[in-house]
Amino acid sequence: MKQTVRNIIIFAVAMVILGAILATTSLDTTKTTDIATLASDVQKGNVTNLVVSGDVIEATYKDGSKAKAEKEPGDSISTIFKNYGVDADRMLAIPTEIKEASGFNYWASLLLPNILTILLLIGIMWFFFRQVQGQNNKALSFGQGAGHEISKDAKDKVMFKDVAGVREAKHELMEIVEFLKTPEKFSSFGAKIPKGVLLMGAPGTGKTLLAKAVAGEAGVPFYFMSGSEFVEMFVGVGASRVRDLFARAKKNAPCIVFVDEIDAVGRQRGSGLGGSHDEREQTLNQILVEMDGFEPNAGVIMIAATNRPDVLDPALLRPGRFDRRIMLDPPDIDDREAILKIHGKHKPLSKGVSLRKLAERTPGFSGADLMNLMNEAAILAVRRGKTSISEDELLESIEKVMLGPERRSRVMNENERKITAFHEVGHALIAHMLPHADPVQKISIISRGRAAGYTIKTPTEDRHMRAREEYVEDLSVMLGGYAAEQIVFGDITTGASSDMRSATQLAKDMVMQWGMSAALGPRVYGEREDMIFLGRNIHENRDYSEKIAEKIDNEIDKLITEALERAKQIINDNRSAMNKVSEVLMEKETLERDAFLAAIEIPSANPANRPDNT
Ligand code: ADP
Ligand code: MG
Ligand code: ZN
Repeated sequence: MKQTVRNIIIFAVAMVILGAILATTSLDTTKTTDIATLASDVQKGNVTNLVVSGDVIEATYKDGSKAKAEKEPGDSISTIFKNYGVDADRMLAIPTEIKEASGFNYWASLLLPNILTILLLIGIMWFFFRQVQGQNNKALSFGQGAGHEISKDAKDKVMFKDVAGVREAKHELMEIVEFLKTPEKFSSFGAKIPKGVLLMGAPGTGKTLLAKAVAGEAGVPFYFMSGSEFVEMFVGVGASRVRDLFARAKKNAPCIVFVDEIDAVGRQRGSGLGGSHDEREQTLNQILVEMDGFEPNAGVIMIAATNRPDVLDPALLRPGRFDRRIMLDPPDIDDREAILKIHGKHKPLSKGVSLRKLAERTPGFSGADLMNLMNEAAILAVRRGKTSISEDELLESIEKVMLGPERRSRVMNENERKITAFHEVGHALIAHMLPHADPVQKISIISRGRAAGYTIKTPTEDRHMRAREEYVEDLSVMLGGYAAEQIVFGDITTGASSDMRSATQLAKDMVMQWGMSAALGPRVYGEREDMIFLGRNIHENRDYSEKIAEKIDNEIDKLITEALERAKQIINDNRSAMNKVSEVLMEKETLERDAFLAAIEIPSANPANRPDNT
């Protein structure tokens, strides 16, 4: 659009300049008069000479001055002068030169205005035509723009060393790199290289980054495309883009075609009620056709990434297509330290900053979260005018990434502050008193994001499997805020609503998904099916009877009621400790782990939560 506006401006300026030039060249000293005046001057004998070129008569006077007049086209000069009453002998006495009306000037003066008008019209038409065509192009021959090629000699290319952790994935992808570098080595042994590699992992685990690193290591062209780009308004556009993308890739083999977020097109066919349903299906079919079409050793390797492998169409996962599937795990503590190191490389960290400690404090953070953390800390340090990034900024950024920015401006009245304090201490107290709950790291009554206050508990180690008892205790911790409000104030505020929601979800998962209810046995209830309908993603297919549904309800109820009772019991047994901690919290607003332990005085039931154990 900007381009066309510029074109118009250039065009207009050119026209104005041309016009100005013409105007100055046609400006000569001859003054113009009308034919009647000229005729009377001839009759009076003032005119010594006449030159007729076409319809323009130029007269030279006795005093040497000149004048121009225009006559009616068609009539000869003698006829006209006769009509104006000029005597015939007067006319004959004046030498009259009739110039051929074909001089350049004549034609130019006659045609130029018309030519200019026509040119202008053509220009305007061309401009509009091009616009319309541009739109048509987009709609009908889209292909050309499909996919972005990332040059193999790009300066900021990513290498494996820029990706921390994900050891297994890197190892698998090494093989792909080897193949792209020396395909002969493999084909001479008759080895077939996988056509497609599917990277699976939670958002921010580095799928996109890793795919770029493969291209960087192999030094081959890298065609990048996001699944959502395929899905357009018109049916058939996506399929055509796929065709074009593969055509270009094959021409430039060996190379990598990377389709990010493939679940946008590769969802199970036949499910979903969205409008672009047909379109997705056609696009997916085209991808399958292309993948089947190229020979195993053609040198085109397709890498796709998704964070929803569960919704992918089974056809994509069949042998010969994405037969290599690589899971990217969330980073463990060593990985987190390594990722922090990578993203802290070009940042001035204060001496003594321990990235290990930071890694300990950030279980559950993805690679993207950690990058974000480092960035926030750097911004914070700059804003504070520091010369380097100290631990303060890093620790503060953990919470910012986790919970959103602090909202000190949100004004709480004294009563709200008191309720929030007791609510948060409720969570903290239960976590402190239960043997398997995560130790309390920090409590605060400063609003963050949408929460009025918060309590941070972090597991002492990364855990992949958890036992039923741990979840039961988690439920009590979640309901600790609710229990505290009920006991202390005899009433409940809306502040507990999100706690209730997460507790209900956890209880539901325990009963229906994880077989943790004795009454219902080791069975999964409710098959989850992916459906996009009015923005709701998960639809549960009821595969059980009314009777079972009632049982499920009862079991969920029981879990929650028991957890709440347990929380209330703990609070009632430790009322004085709770009051004391709440008072300190209201005064200080934020309590770090040590301050909390000092205030509560009771030793924790969790050995990991004792002060001597850090
Ligand atoms: P995904 O595609 O899995 O959602 P990205 O690859 O886009 O995640 O990751 C986003 C950013 O997070 C990356 O650009 C990188 O800076 C950082 N990041 C994620 N994982 C890692 C990792 N393992 N090592 C280093 N940086 C990482
Ligand atoms: Mg990505
Ligand atoms: Zn709460």
